[in-house]
Amino acid sequence: MTVAANLGFPRIGAHRELKRALESFWNGATNAEALLRTARTLRQRHWELQRSRGIAGVPSNDFTLYDHVLDASAMVGAIPDRYAPLGDDVLATYFAMARGQQSATLDVPAMEMTKWFDTNYHYIVPEFSADMRFRLASTKPVDEYLEARAAGIDTRPVLLGPVSLLLLGKGAAGAPLALLDRLLPVYTEVLSRLAQAGATWVQLDEPMLVTDLGEARRAYGPAYETLHAAVPGLNLLLATYFGGLGDNLSMVASLPVHGLHVDLVRAPGQLDQVLRALPADRVLSAGVIDGKNIWRADLDAAYGLLRRIAQVRAPDRLWVAPSCSLLHVPVHLAPEARLDAELKSWLAFGAEKLDEVSALAHAVDTGDTSAPLFEESRRAVRSRRESPRVHDAVVARRVLEATDVMRSRRSPYPARRVAQRVLGLPLFPTTTIGSFPQTSQVRAARAELKAGTRTRVQYETYLRAEITRTIRAQEAIGLDVLVHGEFERNDMVEYFGEQLSGFAFSDNGWVQSYGSRCVKPPIIFGDVSRPKAMTTEWSRYAQSLTARPVKGMLTGPVTILQWSFVRDDQPRSATCDQIALAIRDEVADLEAAGIRIIQIDEPAIREGLPLRRAEWPAYLSWAVRSFRLAASGVRDETQIHTHMCYSEFNDIVDSVAAMDADVVSMETSRSRMELLDAFARFSYPNEIGPGVYDIHSPRVPHDDEMVDLLHRAARVIDPEYLWVNPDCGLKTRRWEEVTPSLEGMVRAARRLRAEVEAQRAPGPRA
Ligand code: GLN
Ligand code: ZN
Repeated sequence: MTVAANLGFPRIGAHRELKRALESFWNGATNAEALLRTARTLRQRHWELQRSRGIAGVPSNDFTLYDHVLDASAMVGAIPDRYAPLGDDVLATYFAMARGQQSATLDVPAMEMTKWFDTNYHYIVPEFSADMRFRLASTKPVDEYLEARAAGIDTRPVLLGPVSLLLLGKGAAGAPLALLDRLLPVYTEVLSRLAQAGATWVQLDEPMLVTDLGEARRAYGPAYETLHAAVPGLNLLLATYFGGLGDNLSMVASLPVHGLHVDLVRAPGQLDQVLRALPADRVLSAGVIDGKNIWRADLDAAYGLLRRIAQVRAPDRLWVAPSCSLLHVPVHLAPEARLDAELKSWLAFGAEKLDEVSALAHAVDTGDTSAPLFEESRRAVRSRRESPRVHDAVVARRVLEATDVMRSRRSPYPARRVAQRVLGLPLFPTTTIGSFPQTSQVRAARAELKAGTRTRVQYETYLRAEITRTIRAQEAIGLDVLVHGEFERNDMVEYFGEQLSGFAFSDNGWVQSYGSRCVKPPIIFGDVSRPKAMTTEWSRYAQSLTARPVKGMLTGPVTILQWSFVRDDQPRSATCDQIALAIRDEVADLEAAGIRIIQIDEPAIREGLPLRRAEWPAYLSWAVRSFRLAASGVRDETQIHTHMCYSEFNDIVDSVAAMDADVVSMETSRSRMELLDAFARFSYPNEIGPGVYDIHSPRVPHDDEMVDLLHRAARVIDPEYLWVNPDCGLKTRRWEEVTPSLEGMVRAARRLRAEVEAQRAPGPRA
């Protein structure tokens, strides 16, 4: 019989039960026992749910209190010394690693966090040292296996594979694989214990296998030989996802494992090569249901792939599965009330995806594809193909007609720079990134509007008062380019998505971002257009209050795309261009409303980079073209800004330059030196504002620190082209920190201006 399998289930709970339990534990409102009880309830519920949906291959140890990579670090005892004072308190140590701890007795920062491959999930980066000694420091995988067994479910424990664990970490003098020999005994020990406990299969996740490995590839053979030799009776499923195996395939196919999971959603083209390379006695787990997106599958197409496998493999050597863990999708679609019936018929969340997996496994065994789910899938494919809600001929034509001319400003930058002198800005102009503190009053006002206890008129009156206050505050601080403060925005993507056609929102479609934090990404289901202006009223109002230029603030097309669930029936680049046209219209309206500076934020442009370097140029090319389509409709005098954060721009500086914004502001606080290095090597042609203070911390920087940074920046960037601004938006900060920090920033800019003037002034007469 063909096995219906799952690789991992969302842990946070359909109603974010884990989030609540964690936060009340952290607040001290509940104790550890209560937290662990909720965790156990969720695990049981999820195992039961998977079984009830017909899944025979149910995973365990996919649950975590915070992050599965942190669990792996904790399991192997990779605990940095700074947490040692927490001693034997396992839970306190774990959460201190995840979130830092600030108390009378101990003040330690958290470990670093970064994006999990090309998803919007973030993991805690393992920290190694060259002399690290590993040990089995946690029996969580065994405990949870036994817990499931006691509940009557024989699961397949999931571990992050040893090579990926090392490669995802930092430290160890840049040679993490040198630690492999010391790490493997811990893995063999946990595998033996799992085998003793009764496990027949263990899943080892090695997502690094879909990336460019180079020399690191050689680590896999010896590592898996060792594991196999230590527990020969235990079946190992090597799981790969988020892409194809590419040049790693032949090595992977020769590893002594009993099964291989491949992602056939992202890389369906690899199937033939995989079938050829993988010995016939190995299980092939076929990831044919998209674990990263929320669309109902085309079951006939998935069935077609599975038939090809079934023709050449014994039935007990084929598993059907989602492409990756379902961690990246919400739990249940069925209870959603905000999405209408037609839209819902196009979607599948976690539970519904498991139904699809079971239906496919059953169809492979019986050859019968007449089940209701197949019929529903066909209807969805047909209606998405034909629905006027999805297809807007005007939008499609506009994208086709978006010429290169529309993707270029009228004049090259040097001419624009001259035209923009009408703005009358001083040397080292000062500005902010857009948002000002989202105080509890601002959030309460929005909540009351939503609850109906505040009328729209009252809400808007309140926002205008906030804008006025913020404009006056910026004038008093002495900033040169002002902003309205973004008080009307809940979120920089949702705010625009809610006003655009082609977007839908769920009530409860939460996906874990990190720890207890979840996001509810918009769903882009159709051609995108802009029924009416989205931001002009607020910008116009703010500009009416002051003679200084007020920046219009927009979110760019790549970022809107990147932080949404994107339709899968056309290339992402086409959807991105549609969003770009909507933003272009908004830019035109802002300009017509008298706004002279417009910022189009693209904080997510770097994180859209494909996992394989060979695919970078194609992505960067369409991403830059979309941005330019959004930004290029204005007169030369209108100054276009963009903003980016999350560092590490060094390998994409030429694409940043190709975006051709007049001014770019960048986060630099976490990798300041490297960013400036990049600009020493590459001379950025337009103006640039490297963030001079770190908004991620409540700390008020000293003037001297900012002056020093500006001096350093001025060594690699022409001072005539330098802007002075914080790292990122100020929405998470409090006014008490923001005001003195910005006052210091303005003083720093004035000091630099005075220095330049002193140099320019003719010296004393001889
Ligand atoms: N304009 C946005 C803000 O200031 C930018 C946020 C971001 O970069 N993520 O909040
Ligand atoms: Zn930012």
